[in-house]
Amino acid sequence: MTVPTITLNDGAPIPQLGFGVFLVDPAETERIVSDALEVGYRHIDAAAVYGNEAEVGRAIAASGIPRNELFITTKLWNKDQGTQSAFDAINLSLEKLGLESVDLYLIHWPRPDLDRYLETWLALEQIQARGQATSIGVSNFHVPHLERVLAEGTVVPAVDQIELHPAFAQRDIREFATSKGIAVESWGPLGQGKYDLFGMPPVADAAAAHDVSPAQVAIRWHLQNGLIVFPKSNSRERMAENFDVFGFELTADELEAINALDQGMRVGANPDTATF
Ligand code: NAD
Repeated sequence: MTVPTITLNDGAPIPQLGFGVFLVDPAETERIVSDALEVGYRHIDAAAVYGNEAEVGRAIAASGIPRNELFITTKLWNKDQGTQSAFDAINLSLEKLGLESVDLYLIHWPRPDLDRYLETWLALEQIQARGQATSIGVSNFHVPHLERVLAEGTVVPAVDQIELHPAFAQRDIREFATSKGIAVESWGPLGQGKYDLFGMPPVADAAAAHDVSPAQVAIRWHLQNGLIVFPKSNSRERMAENFDVFGFELTADELEAINALDQGMRVGANPDTATF
């Protein structure tokens, strides 16, 4: 199975479907990421704060998969915002991952209260210039945060990774990002199981019509909307199910019906006010 790629604004290809490791217990991470790589995933979405970079790195090393066939993202945690702390943070992440560079390095949250995301972005530009990250981007940035980085920085972020699922479709950020050539990544693509996405009629009906699961319908909705998506599951069966989404296509009517589920319903923190 070849996963389609999206070409980022710096020319680098990113597999549109990956595997996320938020809340994956470090004690289980090596096994779970090894399973994901065996299932066929080649894009892993990690973060320093998930506390499992070393275990992700061990699974990568054990897989024997050539480095250039993998796409590895990690993220700079909020306490590491700033210039020198960003340089220290990428060094530590690379050491833990056992890699010379990541494919994508993100500022995890803007934390506007700290007022250091612009300084941190300029540090990421240097990290990219040094070759420690092929692409750089942001996460949880709202339009004003993106506007500031675009106005003051030199590099346009390759991606903005934001909470995005049918009940929280984030049309304003998507439209702005697309107009600036910034790819959008969906976190919590299944709503983190925090509402009954799978029981909503447009999702359940499409699943029945295509003889697939509601999770597969949700993942297709992201893919057919041009979004980059990396659902998480500890179970190998579900990993395989979530990866098996290239044998059917949602119709325009089905996509439209799922689009209509948008209620502006956030399941995670609001980036404007988060202080963790
Ligand atoms: P998700 O929407 O992927 O939901 C995960 C939940 O869905 C789990 O409880 C899992 O058991 C369940 N699930 C997965 N596959 C299923 C299936 N086929 N059928 C039924 N249930 C299924 O939520 P997530 O893990 O928060 O998001 C995915 C990834 O996004 C994370 O692992 C992480 O890499 C990233 N993320 C980033 C941020 C950020 O701030 N940048 C925040 C949260 C998550």
